[in-house]
Amino acid sequence: MRIAIISDIHSNLEALEKSIELIRQQNIDEIICLGDIIGYGANPRECIEMVRQTTPHILLGNHDEAAVHLSKTEYFNPYARIAAEWTNSELTDEQKVFIQNLPYTLELSGLFFVHSSPYEPGEWHYILSPADAQFNFAHFSLPICFLGHSHVPGVFCEDLWTAEVVMGKKYIINVGSIGQPRDNNWRLSFGVFDTDTWTYQNIRSEYAVKRAAEKIRKAGLPKSLAERILVGK
Ligand code: ZN
Repeated sequence: MRIAIISDIHSNLEALEKSIELIRQQNIDEIICLGDIIGYGANPRECIEMVRQTTPHILLGNHDEAAVHLSKTEYFNPYARIAAEWTNSELTDEQKVFIQNLPYTLELSGLFFVHSSPYEPGEWHYILSPADAQFNFAHFSLPICFLGHSHVPGVFCEDLWTAEVVMGKKYIINVGSIGQPRDNNWRLSFGVFDTDTWTYQNIRSEYAVKRAAEKIRKAGLPKSLAERILVGK
C-alpha cells in the first residue's frame, strides 16, 4: 500500500491543489492529513472542503484548534493570533463543528500518525532535535510515527547511526509542511510511504507561491505571513 501524508496546509489553497495533483499522479491508496489545515493563509474554507473531499483520515492541529477556540491562542505570536482570529471569522458554523470533532492520533496499516508528538499529543510539543525524538520513541509502539508541526521535514531513527528507513527499527518521520515550509526552502513538502517495500520518500514541489502570497496581502493579513512563504521561513 502506498500512503501519502500531508500536513500543515495553513489555508494555502495553491499549495494544497498542487500537492493533490501530484498525489493523483503517484498511484496512492490512502491519504492522511496530519492537521493544521488552517491558520496563516487566505483560503481556510476552501482548504477544509478540499481536504474533506480528498480523505476521511484527518487529524487535529494546534492552529485548527485555536481557530475554533480563540482562548487557545495565548501562546501564539501576534501574527499567528491575528490569523487565528481572522480564520475564525471566515469559517462556517458547520466547519467549526467538523474541526472540533477531529482526533489527535490515528493508527492505520500498522503505522502511527499525530500532528505534534506521541507524548501528550494535545499539548503540542515540538520534536526539533534527535534528543526530542529519543524521548518520544518510548511513547508509541508501532514502528513508524509520522508527524508535522515544526514544518521542517526529516527522519529520526531510534538508532542514531541509520539514515535509511529499514525494517526492525523505529522512526519518527516529519513530512514537512504543504503551505508554509520553514527549512529555507519555499517548495511544498509531503511524504509518501510504501508499506510493501518499506520505503519513504519526501516530495518537494514548486507551486503558485506568488499567487498565495498576494492573496494573504489582499485579505489584510499581516504582510510577514506573505513574505515568509516566498522564502520558506
Ligand atoms: Zn503548523
